[in-house]
Parts: sequence; structure tokens; C-alpha cells
Amino acid sequence: MVWHGFTQMAAYAGNSPITVERAEGREVIDVDGRRYFDAISSLWVMTLGHHVPELDAAVTDQLGRVAHTTLLGNGNRMVVEFAEALAAVVPVDDAHVLFASDGAVAVEQAAKIAFQYWVNRGQSGHTRFLALGDAYHGDTVGALSLGDGGFGTELFDPLRFPVIRTPGYASPDWADKAVACVEANAEELAAVIIEPLVQGAAGMLVAEPEDLAKLGAACRYHGVLLICDEVATGFGRTGKLFASEWAGSDFRPDLMCLGKGITGGYLPLSATVASGEIFAAFEGADLGEKTLYHGHSYGGNALACAVALRHLQLIHQWDVLANVTVVADRLASLLRDHVVGRPGVGAVRQRGLMVGVELDPPGGATRWGRRVCAEALQRGILLRPLGDVVVLMPPLTTTLEEIGLVVEVLAASIGLVGEQDQR
Ligand SMILES: *Cc1c(COP(=O)(O)O)cnc(C)c1O
Repeated sequence: MVWHGFTQMAAYAGNSPITVERAEGREVIDVDGRRYFDAISSLWVMTLGHHVPELDAAVTDQLGRVAHTTLLGNGNRMVVEFAEALAAVVPVDDAHVLFASDGAVAVEQAAKIAFQYWVNRGQSGHTRFLALGDAYHGDTVGALSLGDGGFGTELFDPLRFPVIRTPGYASPDWADKAVACVEANAEELAAVIIEPLVQGAAGMLVAEPEDLAKLGAACRYHGVLLICDEVATGFGRTGKLFASEWAGSDFRPDLMCLGKGITGGYLPLSATVASGEIFAAFEGADLGEKTLYHGHSYGGNALACAVALRHLQLIHQWDVLANVTVVADRLASLLRDHVVGRPGVGAVRQRGLMVGVELDPPGGATRWGRRVCAEALQRGILLRPLGDVVVLMPPLTTTLEEIGLVVEVLAASIGLVGEQDQR
């Protein structure tokens, strides 16, 4: 009875799905009791592990107080506490947090805020967005407009609002193109939106920090807002708490979108973080036109904020970023030794614990991504490809032993699929 997203249901049963019953740490356990290492962190949301006692306790403690109260016009102690903790660590000046439940909505909110910011300031004409090729910002119509094509979304083209698009991270000179475009269109642009450091859904296309810094400086110089969509990269994925930090301390997004790892994979929560300057542009008369008329029923759910706050504390207490760095280094060397240059493997791209292994099936064979992941599943490693890119997104607490096993199984699975095709 379940209709699975991004899934052709007519082929569902043939694509070796598992049905999870429970999980322990970094392993999920299916209804038949089989265990799988969750090497995609439950589609990029899980960080520390599943069923983490401290995070479980944060939820149950909050449940003993209140599960949810609306943020529309009223406050909630736990939400305030999490917003304060988050504002202290995001690379956004004088941060203010507007909560929602999904990453796509965090992007919608950022786009609407950027648009209205200029209206509120009485500066007309700033109505367009610059977005990158291969971008992915979520599946609602606004987020889809900012995102590039792919995933069969072209059919929605008539619903998309037009954006200015310059090449994504697959082009070595993407930053120069984007900077030139900012210069040429500064008077028309409301904002530039990027996925800092990694275009995840595009197959883990990676950027250099200096290029991000270059674009950030151009936005600042020309007075164009910068939106950083850190839905995938936030909360430690790349080895820093936020990927934007790689671009240096002068790189200060005006708006930042957070989601996925924000609750460690526990509950739906997302956030649009706005700078104090943006926030101030919305101050005006009660019920007046400067108000942000946007909000979601479950935005800033107290249970979700309780687990998010505990999660943020644990990232520091457990020194999770140090583990990401150590395990990511090992992962890089293991990939170099066992995967790069193997028959059937094209490029391997990595930033922290975000990896895309692009397969290059000999003779144009199809569905290699699927088949490699199916072989890995047989060997206890849960993966999901993006087309012919096998994604590795292991939990941030992954051990050196576990990462060794993941790469061993991946290499063996690629080898097996290659052998099958030769027969
Ligand atoms: C996943 C993702 C989104 C969408 O988040 P949802 O919670 O799935 O709506 C937006 N932007 C980026 C960069 C993402 O990776």
C-alpha cells in the first residue's frame, strides 16, 4: 500500500528492496533478521547511528513535556533553545531561524525571503535567481525551478519559474562563469543559490573552496544575496560542521538551508537561517506588508528540536568531526587502492564522507549502478545509486574497520557485475 518516492513501483519488487524492522547503531535489520550496514545513512539523513540511546532519550524526555505547539505567533521553550544553539554555530551573521520540516521547504522559504527582502527594502527589479547546472534543491515546484533538469522532472517545465543558469561543478570554470553572470545581472538578481562544496544529487560533483570564496566575494561586492543550500552537506558531512566553512571565514551566506542531518536522522525538521540584515528588512507594522506570510503547521516541532539540540551537543562531545576527518582520509586511500582505475569505474569524487563512484560500464551496459548495489546488499552493505553513480554516505561515526568492509564489498561487487557481463 506504500507508494515509494523516486521509485518505479511496477519494478519495485524486482529491485531487491529490504523492509526494515529495527536498527542498531549503524546497521539496519530487516523483517527476516538480516543485518545491513547503512552506507547511505538512510538517504543522507542519519549521522551518528540509528537508535542512539542519547537521542532516544531526548525524544522521550520532550515527549514527557509536550510534542508540538505551533510557532505561528507563539513560542516553545525547546525550539527557542535549539534555535539559539544553532544560531551560535552557523556561519551566518546574527542568525535567525525559520523552521519547517523538509529540505525542499527550507529552500522555498529562502527563495521567498530573498525575493521579499528586496521588495521590503523598496528596491524593485531584483526578481531573478541565479542557480547552477546540475543543481538539486528539492521536489516542490519552487525548489524544482531552482534545480536543474534530470530525474525525469522535465515534464514539469511548464510549472517552473525561469532562472538564470550557469554551469555547475562539472565545469572547471564554473565559478568564473557564475561571477561574470553576477556582475552582468546584479541589478536583476534577488539571490544566487548554490550547494556549497558538493552537488550531491547530481552524483557528488565537487567544487574547490577557493571557487566558493570567489563567488561569495562577488555576491557581496555586487550586493546580491547568497543562499547556501546545506541540506545535504550540513552537520559534519564534509568534515566541518557546515561545508560553507571550507571557503574561509569571510564566506558568510545571507541565507542557509538546513535539513537532512539536522536531527541526526530522527525526525523531519528543516530550517532556513537568515542573517540579521535580512531579518531586519521584514520588521514593520503589525499585520503590515513587510511581514513574512509563510509558515508550516509542523514547522519547529518540539520533539524534532529536542533531538536536534541533543544531536548538536553530541557532535561536539563525541568529537564527531575528528572522526569524519580520520575515516574520510582512510576512505580516500582505500578507494585509491581498490576502486580507482578498476575496470568499470570512471571518476571517484569525495568530500569528507560524501562519495560518488561513477561507474563506466564497458560496452555501454545498463543498470550497473543498480546491479552493483544489489550485489553489495547480498554482502550486507546497504547502498543506493544515483543512476550509474554509486553513492557512499556512511554514518559520521563509522569506524576504520567498517569503512574497510564497505570498500571491500564495493570493489567485489563491481568486479562481480563485470564478470557477469563477460559471460
Ligand atoms: C535532499 C536535498 C534537498 C531536499 O530535501 P528534502 O528534505 O528531501 O525535501 C534540498 N537540497 C539538497 C542539496 C538536498 O540534498
